[in-house]
Amino acid sequence: DVRVRYAPSPTGHLHIGGARTALFDYLYARRQGGQFIVRFEDTDQTRHVESGVDNQLEGLRWLGVDWDESVDIGGPYGPYRQMERLDLYQPFIDQLLREGHAYYCFCTEAELEAERAAQEAAGEMPMYSGKCRSLTPEEQQRYRDEGRKPSIRFRVPENKTIAFTDRIRERVEFDSNGIGDFIIVRPDGIPTYNFAVILDDHLMKITLVIRGEEHLTNTPRQIMMYEALGLPVPEFAHLALILNADRKKMSKRDESIIQFIQQYQSLGYLPEAVVNFIALLGWSPKGEEEMFTKEELIAQFDLDRVSKSPAVFDMDKLNWMNNAYIKKADPERIALLALPHLQQAGLLPAELSEEQQTWARSLIRLYQDQLRYAAEIVPLSELFFREDVQLDDEAGALLGEEHAPIVLSSFQKQAEAAADFGVDAIKGLIKAVQTETGYKGKPLFMTIRVALTGQMHGPDLNMTIHLLGRDQVLARLKKLL
Ligand code: GLU
Repeated sequence: DVRVRYAPSPTGHLHIGGARTALFDYLYARRQGGQFIVRFEDTDQTRHVESGVDNQLEGLRWLGVDWDESVDIGGPYGPYRQMERLDLYQPFIDQLLREGHAYYCFCTEAELEAERAAQEAAGEMPMYSGKCRSLTPEEQQRYRDEGRKPSIRFRVPENKTIAFTDRIRERVEFDSNGIGDFIIVRPDGIPTYNFAVILDDHLMKITLVIRGEEHLTNTPRQIMMYEALGLPVPEFAHLALILNADRKKMSKRDESIIQFIQQYQSLGYLPEAVVNFIALLGWSPKGEEEMFTKEELIAQFDLDRVSKSPAVFDMDKLNWMNNAYIKKADPERIALLALPHLQQAGLLPAELSEEQQTWARSLIRLYQDQLRYAAEIVPLSELFFREDVQLDDEAGALLGEEHAPIVLSSFQKQAEAAADFGVDAIKGLIKAVQTETGYKGKPLFMTIRVALTGQMHGPDLNMTIHLLGRDQVLARLKKLL
C-alpha cells in the first residue's frame, strides 16, 4: 500500500515550496489509491510557531488538498506531531546506544565552536572530530559529575558508500567519510529532525518520502540510521528547487513572488488555478494542454514526469492562469470574492443596500474578464469612485482634437434629455450622437470613453456608462466642457 506524507515544521504559513511538496504527495497518493498523511515536525522548538499547525492545514484545505491522517482527524499511527511522540522514540535510542551505533557526547557548544574554527582555519571542512566516540564509562561519569548534559550522536561508519535510487534523480551516492557523527538527541532529551523523521516514517509505514531537494544531504544520514536499526529503507523522491524569474533559488524574501498560500487566498486567487499552477512546478503533462482540474491532475500525475532540473516560478504565468479560471468562473462566485476588497478599500460601505449590491455585482461582472485576481477590482474600477477623471498624455491628446467638444456636447445633450439610462438606452444615445455629429468609430466611442473614464481602453462602454450613472456622467462632462 502506498503511503506518503507531508511533514512540515510548523514555523508559519504554508509556503509555495511546501504546498508543492504536499500537492505532489497528495496527487501521487490519490493516483495510486494510497494514503496521504500530514504530520508535524516540531522538535526544533526554537522555530516553532503556535499557529503553525493550523496555518499549514488551513492552507492545504483551501487548496483542496485533503489528507487521510493528521492531527485533526487522527489515524491509526498517531499522534501526528513529534513532540507528542517522544515516548515512541525511546526504545530506538536505547537500541542504538546498546549496539554501539550511538554514543554520548559531552562537548559543550563552546568546545564545538572552537573545533569548527580550527578546522576552518586549516582549510578543512568543518565536521565533528569524534572526540567523544570512545569515552570510557569513567570518563563519561566525570563529565556528568561536572554537570555536563550530553547529547547523543550517531556513529557514522567509516569508508562506506551510501547509495540509493531516487525516484526522480535516479542513482545518488554519498561517501560516509564526508559525514561527521551527527546529533540525534539534544542535551534536553529531544530528538533532532534527522532521527525523529526516520522513526516516524518507519512507524507510520511510509513507503515513499517525497520532499524538497534541500533535504538530499540528510538522506544518507537517514539511510545509515535505518540500516543501523535494521529497519527497511523507504523510497525517496527529491523534488528539484524552485527558482525565481532571475533563475536564482526562490527565497522567502523574494518580493517578485507571492510566497504564501494564505496571501493568494486573501488576494482572491482561485484555489483550483493555484493548484494547477503549482502542479506544473516540476511536473509536466504528456500533451500540450496546461489547464487541469484536480481530478485530471490525479488521473495524470506520475513521478516519471517530474523533472530533476529546477522549476522556474513565473508569477506572470500564474496571473495569466488565474485570470483564465476567473473568466470561466460563475460571476456570483467572483462577486463574493471581489466585493470585500471594494469594501476594505473604503470604496463601498460595509453595509450595502440592495441597490448597491446589485450595482456592485454588475461592476465586478464588468471587470471579471480582466481580473487577474479578485483584489484587482480595486485599481481597475477605482475610476468609478472618484469624481475627477485622470487623463494620461494620450487621452489628453485625444480630447484636444477638434471633434471632441462636438461629440461630447452632443452626448451631454442626449444624456440630459434621456428618460432611461439603462444599457440599451445608452446604446441608443450614442447612436443618436453619431447621427447628429456624423462621427463614428474611434472618434465617437473613444472620445466618450476617455472623457468619462480617462482611459483609452476598458470594458464594455455601454455598461460602463450605465454603471457610472447619469449624475456622474453629466458631472464629468460638465467639468470637461
Ligand atoms: N520538516 C521538514 C521540512 O519542513 C520536512 C522533512 C522531510 O520531509 O523529511 O522541511
